[in-house]
Amino acid sequence: MNRARKRVLLASPRGFCAGVVRAIRAVEKALELYGPPVYVRHEIVHNTHVVRSLEKKGAVFVTDTDKVPEGQVVMFSAHGVAPSVHEQAAARKLTAIDATCPLVTKVHNEAVRFAEEGYSILLIGHEGHEEVIGTLGEAPDRITLIDGPGAVGGIEVRDESKVVWLSQTTLSVDETMETVEALKTRFPQLSGPPSDDICYATQNRQLAVRQLGAAADLVLVVGSQTSSNSQRLVEVAQQAGADAAHLVDSADEIDANWLQEVSTVGVTSGASVPDVLVDNVLRWLAAHGYEDVELVEAAEEHQHFALPRELTAPIRRATDTTERTA
Ligand code: SF4
Repeated sequence: MNRARKRVLLASPRGFCAGVVRAIRAVEKALELYGPPVYVRHEIVHNTHVVRSLEKKGAVFVTDTDKVPEGQVVMFSAHGVAPSVHEQAAARKLTAIDATCPLVTKVHNEAVRFAEEGYSILLIGHEGHEEVIGTLGEAPDRITLIDGPGAVGGIEVRDESKVVWLSQTTLSVDETMETVEALKTRFPQLSGPPSDDICYATQNRQLAVRQLGAAADLVLVVGSQTSSNSQRLVEVAQQAGADAAHLVDSADEIDANWLQEVSTVGVTSGASVPDVLVDNVLRWLAAHGYEDVELVEAAEEHQHFALPRELTAPIRRATDTTERTA
């Protein structure tokens, strides 16, 4: 039995990023303005707790715009959508509110610009992730998805002097750079995004969890299985040296057997996770003898995004004859 002092290292920053705060607030504001139901295409953010609590307030989550009755209000999630989704919404006379995180929109804009300039775009990301589907939709003929260094060998481009890489916002920084290095070997004239596509929140949470992984025997990442940035935190903790790292949606999912021979537990959470879930995990750990909590501060965050303009400027429902104001 490990008799060392039991303690918890709590990562900072952790939990909600500015894009998630904005997206959740956007649903709440839309419910205030229009009353329920407000339809939301896909999970507004990838967290089960957040989705359930918004459902209780009147949000209805749907898999696509064709599931929204004509003329209703639909919100697009923080992960972004392809232009074709905006077109479908307009065809169904939906009042569309776009809660795409501005940092995802930045990647979309880069894709559009590079495509217009004749570049072949190599988008590093995970196949099937909503954000990647949305970005691909901006220039489907110009973008090739690269899911890791192993995918680099078979890429064909029109002009090797005009190739640029972009990335999903929530990837592992280290793994992405491995892929970029492989791409640079394959395409020596490779260009990159004007500034990091992996967002500040993803980078900061990875920075903090790396410190946890180096110091803790066990790292608990609070987050849903669907959350890409949370999954990456588990991987980074393991790579940094943690004996074990687990993703848990809530304290209920912690297995007491994980604590055997563990003196230091690291705790963090993904960018879509409310602090109440982390508090519950800390309570659970305290009840199992891990009462001392030390903060591990890796970065300060002051990012804030304004609500989508559709919620702050006068807006007219597609089916209304009277004008509404926000
Ligand atoms: Fe935006 Fe980054 Fe948060 Fe995604 S994780 S919503 S890109 S700030």
